[in-house]
Amino acid sequence: MTHVSGRHFLQIPGPSPVPDRVLRAMSAQVIDHRSPEFGELGLRALAAIKTIFKTEQDVIIYPSSGTGAWEAALANVLREGDKVLMYETGHFATLWKKMAEKLGVEAEFIGGDWRSGADPDQIETRLRADTGHEIKAVCVVHNETSTGSVSPIAEVRQAIDAAGHPALLMVDTISGLASIDFRFDEWGVDVAVSGSQKGLMLPPGISFNAVGAKALAAAKAGGARRSYWDWEEMLGINGKGYFPYTPATNMLYGLIDAIDMLHEEGLETVFARHQRHAAATRAAVDAWGLEVLCNRQGQESGVLTGVLMPEGHGADNFRAVALKHYNISLGSGLSKVADKVFRIGHLGDINDLTLIGALSGVEMGLGKAGVPHEKGGVGVAMRYLESTPAPGIDA
Ligand code: PLP
Repeated sequence: MTHVSGRHFLQIPGPSPVPDRVLRAMSAQVIDHRSPEFGELGLRALAAIKTIFKTEQDVIIYPSSGTGAWEAALANVLREGDKVLMYETGHFATLWKKMAEKLGVEAEFIGGDWRSGADPDQIETRLRADTGHEIKAVCVVHNETSTGSVSPIAEVRQAIDAAGHPALLMVDTISGLASIDFRFDEWGVDVAVSGSQKGLMLPPGISFNAVGAKALAAAKAGGARRSYWDWEEMLGINGKGYFPYTPATNMLYGLIDAIDMLHEEGLETVFARHQRHAAATRAAVDAWGLEVLCNRQGQESGVLTGVLMPEGHGADNFRAVALKHYNISLGSGLSKVADKVFRIGHLGDINDLTLIGALSGVEMGLGKAGVPHEKGGVGVAMRYLESTPAPGIDA
């Protein structure tokens, strides 16, 4: 392979680039996971992650990717034959539904067009019709990574309550957590699922279940047969900072530093930074004469922007050209929108210049790949950033 100079631009919507400070924190010697030193590390990590979910309740850390935490969430509260209501926000909602079905759960989809988040009104209508309370849980993806649309989680909770329905609210915030606002306790979420490799700025490898009291009670009373994923087994030993099996020790070092960084910047500042970068990106897309995939105003993601390709031009060829010439990775279109959409990740450890660099790669890549567009989107984004106060810097 030939050497490519300069830093790679990893602008996919996760994994996101890992800050040097986090990499350094992780490059420590592995310690005995039954030692007193580990107990302290475990307690610190478990306490720290609660501040990111904004919860006083339990958060479980699994050595797995987000998919494992999806399965853990389902297996602890649902058994074969149980019914769940899911919402088709995009590819990841579809995958979660397929998993539920593989576990023998009867999953009902409220259909969506992959261009917006979940609609609380439709959820309320469906729950009102379920007079026998057969639906055990409502599962919603907070930030649909395949499309760049955000579901209004607090309103979904209100919809469940308005219908007077006892279903649990289970939320996938794998790509939302630590980039856009998420409030486990205040929003009344029962189970939240997340992963390390997005807003938490860590490598892939650990995942989370935040678990509320009602979900814990449901797990005690039911759920599927389970062992590795069992919440109760984890929570007992977690109380002293330990895990029932070998934990991902070095990821925990990184997690503590990454969370320190998020609090040093200020969580609200982090969220505002993501929104500002997303708005600058949409301004660039608009100026290029291209279309943002999310078409519901107010539901556009702060994490990533999905962009529709002009008719007759493949997203995958464009991404390959941008990678070859500008050393930038952009997200691909997934399943239903494969080759029709590309995704610009603007999450995690990035600043104005990172974003402008990334948008420059997109604009030049469009040119090199012969994709029809107007020039000057990067300039529009630059002017947007110049004229819009940077949270934590200008304020
Ligand atoms: N859910 C969402 C919203 C995701 O973005 C992803 C991964 O990108 C997953 C689930 C699956 O997580 P993982 O790939 O870590 O298993």
